[in-house]
Amino acid sequence: MKVLVPVKRVIDYNVKPRVKMDGTGVDLANVKMSMNPFDEIAVEEAIRLREKGAATEVVVVSIGPAKAQETLRTALAMGADRAILVTTDDAVEPLAVAKILKAIADEEQPGLVILGKQAIDDDSNQTGQMLAALMGRPQGTFASKVEVEGDSVTVTREVDGGLETVKLAIPAIVTTDLRLNEPRYASLPNIMKAKSKPLANKTPTDYGVDTTPRIETVKVSEPPKRVAGIKVADVDELVAKLKAMGVAA
Ligand code: AMP
Repeated sequence: MKVLVPVKRVIDYNVKPRVKMDGTGVDLANVKMSMNPFDEIAVEEAIRLREKGAATEVVVVSIGPAKAQETLRTALAMGADRAILVTTDDAVEPLAVAKILKAIADEEQPGLVILGKQAIDDDSNQTGQMLAALMGRPQGTFASKVEVEGDSVTVTREVDGGLETVKLAIPAIVTTDLRLNEPRYASLPNIMKAKSKPLANKTPTDYGVDTTPRIETVKVSEPPKRVAGIKVADVDELVAKLKAMGVAA
């Protein structure tokens, strides 16, 4: 069974995003970029499935600027077998990504597609669900445990009320949550080896997908600064203040 893992190059989770002066978006010039953390978890899970003998090949794919190649090389250094880079300078939206992934899945016929539950740049949490709908395949989102048995996969999902377990027929779509695993670091020898692993270069047109944005960004602005709190002497003063603010009757 082949496992396909889409990985997105995003602003590093340690970086505090800055909004561009003209309010058209987030300033990405000279900012550290990394693999989306949930995608690292997806790569790790796919590699573990191969190590357990449940998967035979791990293929990673990224859709984005030419520099997304670095993200793919990181995934190859972790242990993925080969990579596909779909280059575009458009800001690709989840639907366009899902359409490209569907075309790749049609070609590659993976048993599982393991995506992150969300990309930490746009926080959309849409691509996996859209891909499952486009492919007409079952989905197990927000996975904290994934077990493959024969032609089915059992996914433990993190839901609001606790945990839910679903059994899906393969081929299926899984999206990862934080507790699924702890991704490995790539060793230096593996980083060197990753340089010679196969990486195919494609474009959205190769898959017949138009990536022109459908959403118009009107304005991007910083969240309002938090105003300083105040200390009250006792409950009476607190209630009086809340009443004065109109938040208590
Ligand atoms: P989103 O729906 O944008 O929050 O992204 C959810 C997941 O879809 C990510 O964790 C990735 O696994 C995948 N994904 C989204 N955008 C891309 C992209 N441009 N290239 C590769 N994978 C992506």
